[in-house]
Amino acid sequence: MKNKIVSGIRPTGNLHLGNYFGALKNFLRLQEESDCYFFIADYHSLTTHPTPENLQGNVKQVLAEFIACGMDPDKACIYVQSDVPETIELYLFFNMNAYLGELQRVTTFKDKARKQPDNVNAGLLTYPTLMAADILIHRASKVPVGKDQEQNLEMTRTFAKRFNHMYNTEYFPEPVAYNFGEELVKVPGLDGSGKMGKSEGFGNAIFLIDDEATIKKKIMKAKTDSGPTEKNSTPPDYIQNLFALMNIVSKEETVKFFKDAFADCNIRYGDMKKQLAEDMNEFIAPTRDKILSISSNDELLSKIAKQGRDKARESAQQTIREVRDIIGFKSI
Ligand code: AMP
Repeated sequence: MKNKIVSGIRPTGNLHLGNYFGALKNFLRLQEESDCYFFIADYHSLTTHPTPENLQGNVKQVLAEFIACGMDPDKACIYVQSDVPETIELYLFFNMNAYLGELQRVTTFKDKARKQPDNVNAGLLTYPTLMAADILIHRASKVPVGKDQEQNLEMTRTFAKRFNHMYNTEYFPEPVAYNFGEELVKVPGLDGSGKMGKSEGFGNAIFLIDDEATIKKKIMKAKTDSGPTEKNSTPPDYIQNLFALMNIVSKEETVKFFKDAFADCNIRYGDMKKQLAEDMNEFIAPTRDKILSISSNDELLSKIAKQGRDKARESAQQTIREVRDIIGFKSI
């Protein structure tokens, strides 16, 4: 069987730099050489209860952003998760063998439960089983994701192993997180809180759709202090975050210039942020322009979604047929 790759993104907001470097960038390289499936995780987004208008609008927007980033529907299968309902059947099978204790221990569940205490629904709890279904519905072996998804992927391996063991088969592979031979990526946010994320409030994330003024405003507002007082000291987390973002979008000599200035205690954070904003805008501008032109092209977007749906369903239907047979759902 050819190596299959699966990854997805929830349409709960625009794509940001974390999505790009954690997932999309790897995918752009992988689509050249592997059998790739990349989906918009709209079932997953129901955990936050979007309105019908928001749900459809967000799905279209994210699809346009995928294409603007360089995802090619003729090379990879790009589809909307809810166009492949077979995923839900596999989700049900995995849920029957997923235990409350192990689901409650997942860090992303604990985080979400803390962030939305009035809406700790079963979908949040079973996020890892739906993610396992997303990946294993195509029997994928590699998953390009950011570091935040490491534990969920461990759960996918657990469910795959459990199924194989229960039915005495080697049907499902045990998929691994993938990042071109390097460590998994974690892009920090601008508010000093750690991870860049869609739902962290204005100022944390740089979106691929942000215009020049917005980028500048967000970066200039990032937390700094009055500067180091001891030579060669270690920067605090929020300054390291700025350096991490600079590493991503600026030239090597620019990063070196400001790192040396920090080590010598003569860094001017205002200048550093201005430079970062300029480099960030230069990095994002070409993608932003493409997003703007593609997102109004409804005909193109629905053609791409249909093309993806047909291929994804074929692959998913085969898996469900075989899984039903293994479990014992046979016609009588
Ligand atoms: P999400 O936006 O949570 O649906 O995540 C979609 C993909 O983007 C997953 O593969 C995540 O691992 C990745 N991702 C999201 N935020 C970050 C981040 N700050 N750094 C690295 N990867 C990220």
